[in-house]
Amino acid sequence: MRTARGWSSIRAMRSCAKNNCDDVASVTMGLRYEDREVLLADLLGEEDPNLLDLCARHADRLTLPIGWRIRDERSAVAFTWAGRAESSP
Ligand SMILES: [Zn+2]
Repeated sequence: MRTARGWSSIRAMRSCAKNNCDDVASVTMGLRYEDREVLLADLLGEEDPNLLDLCARHADRLTLPIGWRIRDERSAVAFTWAGRAESSP
């Protein structure tokens, strides 16, 4: 009686790699040491052991080592995050 329905969609829903965060990942982050760049891109379809998946909130709050910069290659503001529920500061 087991239904294996929706397996592929479950696989596409990865959660944020940060501890204590259960948000759905929407950003894939990679480190390019030679260029001292943190690369942000839309979530990749497949998980890559060299890359980190982050939710939008954590991707926007990254703290970088001195001398590093962010290269944001996400497709603009195409994604909307469900709710925008943060009403209090
Ligand atoms: Zn997160």
